[in-house]
Amino acid sequence: MRKLLIAGNWKMNLTLAKSVDLASGLKKNFPADTSAQVALIPTFVHLPAVHQIIQDTPMALGAQDVYFEKPGAFTGEVSTEMLREIGVQYVLVGHSERRHILGEADPLLNKKLRAVIAEGLTAILCVGETLDQRKAGRTQAVVGEQLNNDLAQVSGEAIAAGHLVIAYEPVWAIGTGLTATPTQAQEVHAFIRGQLSRLFGAALADQIQIQYGGSAKKANAAELLAQPDIDGLLVGGASLIVEEFLGMVRAATGVKKSA
Ligand code: PEP
Repeated sequence: MRKLLIAGNWKMNLTLAKSVDLASGLKKNFPADTSAQVALIPTFVHLPAVHQIIQDTPMALGAQDVYFEKPGAFTGEVSTEMLREIGVQYVLVGHSERRHILGEADPLLNKKLRAVIAEGLTAILCVGETLDQRKAGRTQAVVGEQLNNDLAQVSGEAIAAGHLVIAYEPVWAIGTGLTATPTQAQEVHAFIRGQLSRLFGAALADQIQIQYGGSAKKANAAELLAQPDIDGLLVGGASLIVEEFLGMVRAATGVKKSA
């Protein structure tokens, strides 16, 4: 059985006091009976404060980015070791804002992803097409190429140990209020699972959680999570509101995915 993973990407939002408030609010109201895995992904500089609040809860800590090199002369960067040391378990790799605003390309993302896995952390690899690519009928070509390139030289052992999560995030749905329909999302998720099966074999592909991201919210969570290959949500805007985020955690409770 694949567990569901609901992760909140807080992006470059919130003051330190507001991050603390949000983490505290989530902790206070966290549903005791949830079967879903939950991760909070604040900005780097708020990680220690958020970790302190959630360390004795079922919520895990994630980082939005990382650099692939070992500690050294890389001004402004953060290593996998530094993240692990402060309690980080998940690291986003290839979020569309890093691909499209900051210009990160597949060869760099592959290095980051392998460094995250080598550190014993779990990479959440984000893939997805732009609106122009979708309109041109290139969704599968784009997502397939991202998977091929970003997952090069990743071992089956790393997958078996749970170090890889995929997030399908159509770029046109991120922060726009447009959500892929459950059918549109499931179609791409099934394609992704097929590609993972080609790369790692069917048994391992069945173990990998594939999240959907793109204007997910409490109101659309249940119908997205009802799709057979949607194993959780990566949430931006709605993760900044306690009731919205916990509504998605509640929607994931009791949903089971056969592997
Ligand atoms: C994201 O940034 O990963 C995301 C899905 O954002 P939003 O939920 O705001 O569309």
